[in-house]
Amino acid sequence: MQTHTTQSSASQSETAENITITVALGDGIGPEITQATLRILAAAGARITPEFIDIGERVYLAGHSSGIHPAAWDTLRRNKVFLKGPITTPSGSGYKSLNVTIRKSLGLYANVRPCISYAPFVSTLHPSMDVVIIRENEEDLYAGIEHRQTDEVYQCLKLITRPGCEKIIRYAFEYARSHGRQKVTCMVKDNIMKMTDGLFYKVFQEIAPDYPDIKTERLIIDIGSAKLATRPAQFDVIVTLNLYGDIISDIAAEMTGSVGLAGSANIGDYVAMFEAIHGSAPDIAGQGIANPSGMILSAVMMLIHLRQADIATQIHNAWLSTIEEGIHTSDLQGSQSQQIVGTAAFAEAVIARLGQTPKTFTPMLYQNPAPNVAYQAPKADAIRNITPLVKKMVGVDIFIHQHYLSPQQLASRLTALSTPALVLEMITNRGVKVWPEGFPETFCTDHWRCRFTHPTQQNIDHKDIMQLLVKLTDCGIDVIKTENLCTFNGEIGFALGQGQ
Ligand code: NAD
Repeated sequence: MQTHTTQSSASQSETAENITITVALGDGIGPEITQATLRILAAAGARITPEFIDIGERVYLAGHSSGIHPAAWDTLRRNKVFLKGPITTPSGSGYKSLNVTIRKSLGLYANVRPCISYAPFVSTLHPSMDVVIIRENEEDLYAGIEHRQTDEVYQCLKLITRPGCEKIIRYAFEYARSHGRQKVTCMVKDNIMKMTDGLFYKVFQEIAPDYPDIKTERLIIDIGSAKLATRPAQFDVIVTLNLYGDIISDIAAEMTGSVGLAGSANIGDYVAMFEAIHGSAPDIAGQGIANPSGMILSAVMMLIHLRQADIATQIHNAWLSTIEEGIHTSDLQGSQSQQIVGTAAFAEAVIARLGQTPKTFTPMLYQNPAPNVAYQAPKADAIRNITPLVKKMVGVDIFIHQHYLSPQQLASRLTALSTPALVLEMITNRGVKVWPEGFPETFCTDHWRCRFTHPTQQNIDHKDIMQLLVKLTDCGIDVIKTENLCTFNGEIGFALGQGQ
């Protein structure tokens, strides 16, 4: 298993000196599994020096709504490699997820989640499962831009960008090639979200020809998830959007035997973060029974990133030996379990097997990644240095908060307020066209999208929109927001209404 190294960590690791990494113990089971992992790292002679930062619940509750002290950012930036225990995000709208903030603020665009079965020693319905899910990590609904717009309607913005798609899709192909994997499956919902998910798949099709040695496949996320859940052996590398990747990787990890088995790498150009895919498991926190395997395997990925493949090999083989000897935490309890142990005893069992190779599992033998990997994702500045497209505005969608009117009544009101440049073309409610020619069966909320365009398809400008807005607001219409309707180099940049 290899991960792309950040430039600075790769050059740091050219020496045999210890590399300082940032470590956060986390919340819930976090301290138990992270300390167990640190004990294994120390026993194996990992050439690292942990520098601890405090993040998560205590920091949130001390009044830092982001869950991190401002000074901890300096530590993360300086050390560039972060081993992170799971944290608890307190419920309530005042707290943003720190995991998402860290991933996005530090540009950790690729979330790599290997989900592998360890049959016959860990019970699973899918003994030959070996899938790597590469989840886009910075975009999608995780922008966290949410608004309440009316009494009845709340909105969350799904943001997908071309540079974001290019980075993650190229990363997935590079990962497949450098790890000897045969196929990359792109999972999207572009039959519904034609512009956002459509862009992701379009970029996938553009990049795939650069990798003729890798087979490609595209599946709609719903049937793709169903196939993953029933026939995971058909999959190799999956690249997908942030939310879909989050969901299917938990499912995939659980299918291997336990969500507690899977580790992950969050890779950026400058910083990398390694963490188990599961959360802080408050239901078992403090009991000393959590499975530290996800954290241990994350640490193995970290060691390869740090170019300490020798230590990574040793720890992974000791871990495989522990599992095949039937020394299991309670989440893995099954017919092959010889001894059920707690978190600390599991770590001791791994330590006792350092230097052993597994007898049934294929032993691991990691190589350090090349110091200068062929592919470096484009830097943000380079991405922005593009020729702007020719953008023309052809209309506007005006979102209105309105009770107690039928679509026909609302259309009559708005038609009377049309200006010479902007005439009402369509009204939708929750995306479905209700005027002209709506159905009486369509359920309508208090949130209307009213599309105005030029009567003879001429371009419009912002003043045209402002004139219309003045007329609407003067007549007491509650405008929520507007979205400009534009073409880009002549290509339409907005979706039709459902039924339009
Ligand atoms: P969870 O992953 O913490 O737990 C889900 C279930 O899996 C629980 O029954 C738990 O006991 C079990 N489980 C998880 N890890 C295990 C392990 N190592 N060994 C044995 N069993 C394990 O998910 P949740 O309960 O939905 O979330 C709890 C908290 O974790 C929430 O505050 C959530 O926001 C947070 N969370 C954090 C991260 C992260 O820090 N990366 C990721 C996901 C969730």
